[in-house]
Amino acid sequence: MAENFDVIVIGGGPGGYVAAIRCAQLGLNTACIDDQRNKEGAPSLGGTCLNVGCIPSKALLDSSEQFHRLEHQFAAHGITADNVSMDVSKMQQRKDEIVKSLTGGIGVLFKANKVTSINGYGRLMAEKHVAVLDPETGELKQTISAPNIILAAGSKPVELPGIPFDGEFIVDSTGALNFDRVPKRLGVIGAGVIGLELGSVWNRLGSEVILLEAMDEFLAAADHQVSREAARQYKKQGLDIRLGAMVNRVASKPNGLAVNYTQKGEDHVVEVDRVVVAVGRKPATEGLLAPDCGVALDQRGFIEVDNHCLTAEEGVWAIGDAVRGPMLAHKSSEEGVAVAERIAGGVGHVDFNTIPWVIYTAPEIAWVGKTENELKAEGVPISTGMFPFAATGRAKAMEDTAGMVKVIAHAETDRILGVHIIGPHVSELIAECVVAMSFHASSEDLARIVHAHPTLSEAVHESALAVEKRAIHKFG
Ligand code: FAD
Ligand code: AMP
Repeated sequence: MAENFDVIVIGGGPGGYVAAIRCAQLGLNTACIDDQRNKEGAPSLGGTCLNVGCIPSKALLDSSEQFHRLEHQFAAHGITADNVSMDVSKMQQRKDEIVKSLTGGIGVLFKANKVTSINGYGRLMAEKHVAVLDPETGELKQTISAPNIILAAGSKPVELPGIPFDGEFIVDSTGALNFDRVPKRLGVIGAGVIGLELGSVWNRLGSEVILLEAMDEFLAAADHQVSREAARQYKKQGLDIRLGAMVNRVASKPNGLAVNYTQKGEDHVVEVDRVVVAVGRKPATEGLLAPDCGVALDQRGFIEVDNHCLTAEEGVWAIGDAVRGPMLAHKSSEEGVAVAERIAGGVGHVDFNTIPWVIYTAPEIAWVGKTENELKAEGVPISTGMFPFAATGRAKAMEDTAGMVKVIAHAETDRILGVHIIGPHVSELIAECVVAMSFHASSEDLARIVHAHPTLSEAVHESALAVEKRAIHKFG
């Protein structure tokens, strides 16, 4: 007889582990199956995000930024240092320790909440049974069942046809997080969020980084004024971003790799030491579903769900990167909470209009809501207010003045429809804007809220004031 639970979660990433904890908090007997292993081959909860995504990338971004500041920005403060060097293995060790402590922490949270943690590969079978297989051999270890099952299998990197990962020279994001030395010349295919973050890490440490991006428009998802400013700042840092550059082949050479791409109909080659392929991620759903389990995939492999994350099979839910919507850790987690609350008879909800986006480069980029171009295309009348960080005392005191805040409000109702920021610590500043939009605030509301002086948040305040052309510290 299969062991029975109230809820089985397949996948222990920020979608799955958060769903499992919330289910347990709500009194449901919950099991979470995850197949992730760390470098030593031990089970490691936390999914892509904690093991090979958000957390290790931010650890390296932080280390490399400290190094870059010491080399290039500290002099303005009167600080000089000789013989500055970066110990890459120490940097990697620090990153690995952070990952270890956070992934280990999920195990502790599971114990504290009485979530049954099962290491293995879960496959959804008919009648809400789940087969737990050995991830390496595929051998059946046990079968469990539950009236409610949450699929949170996440995603994996896309491989380009004819450009297979070799784990050393042509790598995915995980490989780029684990380089043991700074490549002299690094090719990055794809100038999306992951390509820009990882390109920034190695550029700051001394690599010559060439980013090849198929699209003609840079950071098309961001507001056009933000992406224009970002392109300017990245160029100043030495990132060589080539747009409209479609990579079609990578050939091995005696001293490295030749990346072949076409740009405006012409063939080009760039020679590099290593290549990071960062052309997007795909749902990790291959093998997850038995043919008779009642759950369907769409053409791109995403699990089909309704607005409440329910699949076609009653009691089977799916969340996170494996379903439609932005591939972001916080989106996965909030879907996990919402589904847990629905299973327990409550009313979980995720507002897709107020999910923040962040790119953790320097300057950072963050936004919530729609861009100016999206709103114009929809025929929505808008008013905008902008304010540069250079006009705030705090950014000047920090010697970190690049960037600006842009608030977009409805021209008639004044409701805030989007906030787009590029600048220092904007991954934190965006939270205020998410709260404002979640409470359906007007730009007037934001403009009348007292902001501490001197803080970077004054740029948000002043840009809200600028919607009605009444920013105080701005000419014209
Ligand atoms: P995942 O985190 O992918 O977790 C799924 C888990 O399920 C994995 O452990 C997987 O091994 C396991 N699994 C899959 N199938 C099975 C199965 N059948 N049985 C058992 N286990 C299974 N997002 C952000 O919001 N902020 C960031 O800063 C950020 N940075 C990133 C940087 C990088 C380099 C990368 C690659 C991603 C980054 N992301 C970031 C994206 C973020 O990691 C994902 O959106 C998030 O991890 C998705 O969570 P999830 O729970 O849906 O899936
Ligand atoms: P993201 O979706 O943010 O992960 O970004 C991935 C980026 O890779 C997108 O901007 C794609 O346009 C880009 N891309 C996809 N395929 C190629 C390719 N063959 N050559 C160059 N860029 C690519």
